Amino acid sequence: NGVTVGFIGLGIMGAPMAHNVLKAGFPLVVFDLMEEAMAPLVAAGATAGSSPRSVAEAADVVLLCLPDSGDVQAALAGPNGVFEGVNPGQILVDMSSISPVVARELAAAAAARDVVLLDAPVSGGQAGAVAGTLSIMVGGDAQALEQVKPILQAMGKTIVHVGGPGAGQVAKVCNQIVIAVTIEAVAEALVLAARAGVDPALVREALLGGYAYSRVLEGHGERFLQHHFEPGFKTRLQVKDLNIALETGRSYGVPLLGTALVHQLYMSLMARGKGEADHAILVTLLEELAGQ
Ligand code: NAD
Repeated sequence: NGVTVGFIGLGIMGAPMAHNVLKAGFPLVVFDLMEEAMAPLVAAGATAGSSPRSVAEAADVVLLCLPDSGDVQAALAGPNGVFEGVNPGQILVDMSSISPVVARELAAAAAARDVVLLDAPVSGGQAGAVAGTLSIMVGGDAQALEQVKPILQAMGKTIVHVGGPGAGQVAKVCNQIVIAVTIEAVAEALVLAARAGVDPALVREALLGGYAYSRVLEGHGERFLQHHFEPGFKTRLQVKDLNIALETGRSYGVPLLGTALVHQLYMSLMARGKGEADHAILVTLLEELAGQ
């Protein structure tokens, strides 16, 4: 395959996504601030870059999967950033979950350099990243998306062009609202079952066969029962996403009642130093509130 791909940010999501790009036959250049994150990819055949700029210089298409808006701003527009190494016509794809406002600003800054920046956040978790079955929600130029689709297809099964710049991030905000509020609902239901003397594992099993079925009941429900909080999806990233959701609601005058409640619950987990734990740890807070 002639197209060289760059991948910046090799964490819980980025590492397996980059591995799948490599497996699909694309020559790959990688960069992460933590050198040890690059080693497994280099062992699998990728080249290590020395900065985001060097990745942009070496690759035709650059993908990013970084924690937060500030990280993407730094990697693109900061010193030794991607923008310093781009060529006109190059396509950049930001797969991080960041603020739609920042995504639009960065897309405009890219356009000023004759470069297309797509926002393409993902859903499906670590398991979906490993399996290459993510859902990818894309905002930005439709023609550029067609060009990079073979690369995205190495990582995701569902690829939807939802609109112009920032639209992918708005879709991801909607995704996070559904997941966070569902986590709270499933957690409080299973805590009630236990307090009422009914085995929450059997309640989960019964609910999985009916209308209350959800991926959250399945995956996070199991984590709740086992108190398995190794991430997965870190609590601090969930707080970041709920902050973005509430900001987006404020920008458009849309009240987000459930989101605001769950945001506060996650804030108290942060205050207890639980930022690095999987976001399923919410159940422990509800257990405590119920005197468990
Ligand atoms: P992570 O913390 O596991 O990984 C982030 C990686 O980025 C780390 O290896 C870090 O060293 C690197 N990094 C940070 N700043 C950098 C910079 N300026 N330049 C180069 N590397 C840098 O996070 P993750 O779970 O992989 O999440 C990444 C993004 O994907 C986040 O926006 C998150 O919200 C989103 N996401 C995560 C999941 C999930 O289940 N974990 C699911 C969907 C979306």
